[in-house]
Amino acid sequence: MTAMPQIILHPKKDESLKRFHPWVFSGAVAQKPDHLREGDIVRVVSHEGAFLGVGHFQIGSIAVRILSFSDETIDARFFEKRLSDAYSMRLALGLVNPSNNTCRLVHGEGDGLPGLIIDMYGNTAVVQAHSVGMHEARWQLLDALRKVIPADTLQNVYYKSEGTLPFKADISPEDGYLLGGKNADAFAVENGLKFHIDWLKGQKTGFFVDQRNNRRLLESLSSNRRVLNLFCYTGGFSVYALRGGAQSVHSVDSSAKAVMIAEENVKLNFGEEPRHAAYAEDAFRYLKQLAPATCDLMILDPPAFAKHRGAINNALQGYKKLNLAALQKIAPGGILFTFSCSQVISKEQFRLAVFSAAAISGRQVKILHQLTQPEDHPVNIFHPEGEYLKGLVLYVE
Ligand code: SAH
Repeated sequence: MTAMPQIILHPKKDESLKRFHPWVFSGAVAQKPDHLREGDIVRVVSHEGAFLGVGHFQIGSIAVRILSFSDETIDARFFEKRLSDAYSMRLALGLVNPSNNTCRLVHGEGDGLPGLIIDMYGNTAVVQAHSVGMHEARWQLLDALRKVIPADTLQNVYYKSEGTLPFKADISPEDGYLLGGKNADAFAVENGLKFHIDWLKGQKTGFFVDQRNNRRLLESLSSNRRVLNLFCYTGGFSVYALRGGAQSVHSVDSSAKAVMIAEENVKLNFGEEPRHAAYAEDAFRYLKQLAPATCDLMILDPPAFAKHRGAINNALQGYKKLNLAALQKIAPGGILFTFSCSQVISKEQFRLAVFSAAAISGRQVKILHQLTQPEDHPVNIFHPEGEYLKGLVLYVE
């Protein structure tokens, strides 16, 4: 057996690892073996040679994503233990039950598995690797999943990483099944509502599981309101608003495919539904032409405007502009659900952008709720960057 390759850090660059932060930045690396390949498992030691952690090596600003702070072997048993911890927590929280079979099983660093996302939709697990190391571990992960989850609950495993790896993974959507697949039933139940999940071609793993609790809150505020769901994707918030007794629901997304599925999802739950209309359109353009005071519950859930630190300022301008447009149009007494899912933008920065929009709009704005991601997207306390979803619910006078 060959020894695990070793990375030596510069003096004093061991501090964040000693506080269990799971990333080693490339600037901290003093020495690494010449033959090291992206995805290799490495031991990280301090300048003085003290063991710090073991993780996946990668090329880019993050050089190592730490999998364990113990000097242990990263093998199928390691993955089985981490997956078992993750699954037990979801079961203990009561997240998997007859009225809800949709949840995130693995949330990267939050579950001690940096670079890995697994979402469960009924008896299908959708696995997404964000690092070469996790890509190379996919078969071990499959074995571990099969050991941890009972066979009747895990019938299909779909591997969806063609858009999340640093190289072009040679996997066509149809070849993505690591397990099952023949009659995979692409529906999931969330809080008693049914959704068609397109894990083959849809965005992320096919659905935005992270809005589950926030959709429920929206439902409770929907009665008799005229709802506008901007950036609706497959209509998650729209379906909840309809169940909540909304007077009307308009769903808008620039993706025609998403809008089509949003319509299907409405039909799946309510049949022909005259209260709902969906538009494939740019949300900014839609807001611009919207007659004022024709909507009294609005959702703004755009894609991440900043994907890296260099984009923060432009993104904050984008959030300000979008929220201003919404505040200018919402009816008096209206409620605005506004979100940012940019990991690099803090809660405070987002709130400041919305504050600026409110100041310019001249409206009275009260914060009713401050929202975040649900409990199946846990934040590793040593890795605050894992808290990526921020939302505000505003009452607009
Ligand atoms: N709220 C959704 C998730 C939104 S994801 C849910 O609960 O499922 C962001 C969505 O914004 C994507 O569906 C994407 O197609 C859409 N989008 C991106 N840019 C847009 C634009 N300029 N106008 C309208 N929709 C846009």
